[in-house]
Order: sequence, then C-alpha cells, then structure tokens
Amino acid sequence: MKKHTDVLIIGGGPAGTAAAITLSRYTSLSVALVERAEFDDYRAGESVSPSIFPLLSYLGIEREQLEQIHLPSYGHAAAWGSDQLIVRDLLFSGQGNGLHLDRRQFDELLIREAKKYGTLVYRPARVTEINKTENWELKIKTGEDQIELSARYVIDCSGKNGLIVKKQQCRVHKEDNLVALYGYYSLNDEHILPHQTVLETTEHGWYYLSPLPNKKVAIAFITDADILKALDLNNPDAWLEYGMKTQHICTTLAQLSEPEAFRHYAINSKVALIPGSDNWIAAGDAAACFDPISALGIGHAINSGINSARVVEQYFSGNQEAGKAYSRFVLDHFGTYLDMRKGYYASEQRWRNSPFWQRRVVEHSK
Ligand SMILES: Cc1cc2nc3c(=O)[nH]c(=O)nc-3n(C[C@H](O)[C@H](O)[C@H](O)COP(=O)(O)OP(=O)(O)OC[C@H]3O[C@@H](n4cnc5c(N)ncnc54)[C@H](O)[C@@H]3O)c2cc1C
Repeated sequence: MKKHTDVLIIGGGPAGTAAAITLSRYTSLSVALVERAEFDDYRAGESVSPSIFPLLSYLGIEREQLEQIHLPSYGHAAAWGSDQLIVRDLLFSGQGNGLHLDRRQFDELLIREAKKYGTLVYRPARVTEINKTENWELKIKTGEDQIELSARYVIDCSGKNGLIVKKQQCRVHKEDNLVALYGYYSLNDEHILPHQTVLETTEHGWYYLSPLPNKKVAIAFITDADILKALDLNNPDAWLEYGMKTQHICTTLAQLSEPEAFRHYAINSKVALIPGSDNWIAAGDAAACFDPISALGIGHAINSGINSARVVEQYFSGNQEAGKAYSRFVLDHFGTYLDMRKGYYASEQRWRNSPFWQRRVVEHSK
C-alpha cells in the first residue's frame, strides 16, 4: 500500500496530536500521523497548570470535558528549602485549578480529536525505514500491513529520543543526567493521602508524590544517574529504605504495600539545535526536554506542536523563514527555563556540598 500526504507527523503524544489537530482543523493540508504505542503502560504522575486550558481550547477541547476525567490539582505542598511543608495554592492564581492527568485518556482524547478533523492515524505502527530525497519516504508496519508513506514535510514529535532529530544528525545540547524512579501504588478506602502534589528534598535529590486518577498514587525519587547508581536505588528495597528516611513522604510510604509497578525514566534536560530551513522540524520533547520540577513538558509539547504546524503552513505558502524563527523560539524558551531552574534549585541551601544540588546552581552556557 502507498499513501502520499503533505505532512507526516511521527508520534501521537501531546506534541504530535496538537500539530495534527492544528493542521487538520485550520489548514487544507493533508496530514498523516504514525504512533507506535497503545498507551497501555504506566505513565508518570503528571500535573498541568491551568495555563494549558486556552491552548487546548484552540484545539477544540474544553476545560469542562477534561475536568470530567482528570483529577483537579489545587496546588502543591513542598518541603523545599526547609523541612516544613509549605502549601502553594493554585486557588488564588486567578485561573482556578490545574489537573493531575490520566495520561492514557488524555492522549487518547487528543488522537480522537485529530482523527475527527481528518488526520489519517496509523496506530500501532512501527517505522521500519526512512529515506529523504526531495520528499520523505517512510515504510511502516501496522499489524500485518506494510505501508509506504511519502510526504513533503515531516514533524518529529517522537518524544525525547527524537527519531528524525537523530536521523538528520541534528546537534542536541544536553544539560544533565537526571533520572526518576517511580513506584506506582493502588489505594484502598483506608489510605489517607494528601490531595495535592507533595515535594520533599533530600541530600541526593528530591521526592515527588502525585495523586493519580482511579485511586492510585505515584511516588518518585529524582536524582542524577551516577548518584542513583552509587546509592543502589534501582533496587526497590533500597529505594523504599531511602524513602523511609524522609520526613513527609515516609508517612504515605508507610501506609502502602508493594508498588504494583516500578519504572525508571531518563528525564534529562536537553534542546535540539533544529536548522529550521529544511523540510522537517521537531516539537515537544523531540525539540526540548525539561526537568519535571518546572512542570513545563506537556504545555511546551502542545504549544510547540501548534507552532510547528504554523511553520509548516508557512512553508507550503512559500515562506521558509518561519522555521528559523521557530528554532530560535525553542532555544530562547530553553534559556529562560534554565534560569528558572537555577532559581528553583538555589532556593534549597541545606546541602550546598552535595553534588546533586551543586550541579544545578552553576552558570549554564546559553
Ligand atoms: C517522570 C516524568 C515526569 C513528568 N512530569 C511532568 C509534569 O508533571 N508536568 C508536565 O507538564 N510534564 C511532565 N513530564 C514531561 C511530559 O511527559 C513530556 O514533556 C510530554 O509527554 C512530551 O510530549 P511529546 O508529545 O513531545 O512526547 P511523548 O509524550 O513522549 O510522545 C511521543 C510519542 O511518540 C511515539 N513514538 C516514539 N518513537 C516513535 C516511532 N519511532 N514511531 C512512532 N511513534 C513513536 C511514542 O510512543 C509517544 O506516544 C514528565 C515526564 C516524565 C518522564
């Protein structure tokens, strides 16, 4: 089977679907999207701020619809800079609450919307070959079918390992080696848990507790890959023992039994130096990844997905400069984020001699 479209999007996460919906809803370009997963694994406990609602509304998804599925996030409580838990409420932000996402349902909704506006979705589908001449030629396998796809433009939304970013040997600036170890737990009626996200720092990193929809909770320890190895925290028993030494997270850990799943994620900050002048671009994590402390990831994915679609629309109208401006926007955004990140980590002064904290307050190269 052969199929030609104007635009091909690789990856059906928030970036890919935002790009697909924007193109299919607001332009006459033909769009195909390839997604390899069924979204059936555990997903990190992710929260989004209320600033995401106007972006989603642009994509035709309204706040009320989301609030029926996802848990409200009223803010967070953090022992960050002192051992006291200080509550920061979103209630008084003027924008109302954010959300603790059920990522599976969130991504499914976005894919459905993309299909509704006319995007051709291949899922689950595996890219088996990529060739680029004037056009892009890809071979994919979906079920028993081999399909040859061609497109004039490709948007790489394949997440942090950026399939096209790699294929095009695009330079990627990497800031750190941050990793997260997550335990996922189911709750019963006797568990008494905080309703907001809880953060707590330790000498070697920080903890993150996030309520999840469907009576679950995720508890994560965030540190650098070398520190994780030195402390042997990949071992679930050592992970639990270290967690029990905290002042606040331990209260929740003590109520829970075995995690039903334990996952390791690479969450290092990095940015791709996308040329912007060629017939491809990257959005979401494929363009830039952020420390989860910033909670920028999903908002950036949707925003850059929408903006990359506008670049493509300009490209087809004969303006090939828009891609370069987009590329500068991604770099500037990353620079602003690094300043912000430095501020967050500098506000914890109790472990000034610890490598984890020292590494994050040094000047970064912009
Ligand atoms: C531990 C952790 C905690 C986080 N916490 C937060 C948070 O609280 N708030 C927040 O806003 N963000 C958070 N993030 C970041 C957020 O998850 C990402 O920034 C966001 O998912 C990026 O969206 P994306 O569409 O760019 O990539 P992804 O969501 O990774 O989607 C990429 C898609 O591409 C598909 N794909 C990959 N390769 C191929 C291929 N070869 N062919 C076809 N399909 C492919 C994948 O299956 C995937 O569905 C967190 C991330 C992690 C790991």
